[in-house]
Amino acid sequence: STEPTAAAATPKDRLLGGLLSPDFDEQSCLSRYQITLYRKTSTHILSSYLLSKLRKYEALHKKCGPNTPLFQKSVEQIKLNHSTDQLECNYVVLSPFDGIGNRMLSITATFLYALLTDRVMLIHLPEDMDDLLCEPFPGTTWYLPSDFPIQGLEWFNTHSQNSYGYLVEKNLINTDPKAPPSSLPSSIYVHLMNDMREAHLHVRFFCDDDQLVISKINWVLLRTNQYIIPGLFIIPKYAEELERMFPSKETVFHHLGRYLLHPSNTVWGMIMRYHDSYLTKSKETIGIQIRNYSHWAPISAENAYEQVVRCTQQELILPSVNLNQSHTSPLTSTKATSKTVLLVSLSRDVYERLYNLYYEHPTITGELISVYQPSHEEQQKFFNKFHNYKAMAEIWLLSFSDVLVTTAVSTFGYVSYSLAGIKPWYLWTAILDRNITNHPCRRALSLDPCYHTPPHFNCKTGGKADPRNIVPYVRQCDDYTHDPAIK
Ligand code: GDP
Repeated sequence: STEPTAAAATPKDRLLGGLLSPDFDEQSCLSRYQITLYRKTSTHILSSYLLSKLRKYEALHKKCGPNTPLFQKSVEQIKLNHSTDQLECNYVVLSPFDGIGNRMLSITATFLYALLTDRVMLIHLPEDMDDLLCEPFPGTTWYLPSDFPIQGLEWFNTHSQNSYGYLVEKNLINTDPKAPPSSLPSSIYVHLMNDMREAHLHVRFFCDDDQLVISKINWVLLRTNQYIIPGLFIIPKYAEELERMFPSKETVFHHLGRYLLHPSNTVWGMIMRYHDSYLTKSKETIGIQIRNYSHWAPISAENAYEQVVRCTQQELILPSVNLNQSHTSPLTSTKATSKTVLLVSLSRDVYERLYNLYYEHPTITGELISVYQPSHEEQQKFFNKFHNYKAMAEIWLLSFSDVLVTTAVSTFGYVSYSLAGIKPWYLWTAILDRNITNHPCRRALSLDPCYHTPPHFNCKTGGKADPRNIVPYVRQCDDYTHDPAIK
């Protein structure tokens, strides 16, 4: 069959069914237009309401983005130290943190918060994210200017004195829902990192009344490495809007990630070169992501390999081999429907074993299995943009797969399958099920990523609460704790 070309794609496809704005210069971000040649079209319903929200957001961002008079006006407000309800432009500034998976999740979650609250989202760009992503909004930038008056956002923490939790705890903020903006600071910091605890009161960010207070504050500065979206779903104020934007609740990241996250031309070059060199030969590509959490759930190379083999064979993802038969009659090309395995991992050890399995033995089905691994960086490297390019490229390559097997709890895996729009098989981590070779994997329940540290807080009593009792569709992560009730 002949490959489709970018020119052949209909305008509707090129803009992902209206998800993307047409107002861009194609050369500035090739991935935005060429992605349709690599990733399957989404089969998940896209609401026209979401599309209209996105177009309105783009107009707002253009009007209020950096280098506009309205932006300048809002920056001046910071110096006055109190909020005003006269401002046309209010902002949420995110400082992304941790690995690429965590950062993609937190950027997307913050963007949804911006959509819900009519704020403009700006990103405090760490140096190691330079040239990683394209600008997502036409005619403007989403990066916070370096001369922004509040500096050092990346170091803010639970105890920062301008933080919402601290101000509430010390009674230094007027939390009366009727409080006028002038009685509130012009900016606050919200700490929603994985070390956020109910006791820190940042958790009140997820309460209706507190959202009302926060809505009057011109600047919200945020640090999170989490997918806080399920937390937004439990805030009654946003329920109706979320329902209209996402009639299918598990598709939030799938759609917003496809809208927002576009690899830069540098990263896109890597993705295309790898894909076109190794992944075009067979009809089916199986993406396997192996994350060895050497600190909290270490697993030996042999066990990780066993787990992958058992999972893929038990779920009929890959064929088993005939161990006794070292030679087999050559297959005619029509019989040999080949499969390609794209294996992504920091180390090479599982790859070597899997590659050899299919090199040394024939499969019982006669299929030919090719195994490829783009890189093996050995360990997570911090503050290294070339390392980040590879991580991003590999997440995107995985997202082009037909079938996915990802490691439980990994945000790297979450981004790949949610962008792909397919539920993966989760490889259990050793800590969740020590008997992983007998229970190697299970199909994920939701397409949407999981929020690892959700609030357990009752906004009315100030006590503990299970978020699952607040709204029925918010569930416990099915890969994060091993709940035997989840089958
Ligand atoms: P998580 O820790 O699995 O939730 O995923 P993150 O992406 O947030 O952080 C892990 C980081 O380690 C990645 O961003 C990469 O920098 C690195 N890393 C982990 N696994 C891989 C891999 O398979 N390939 C590459 N290139 N980098 C990886």
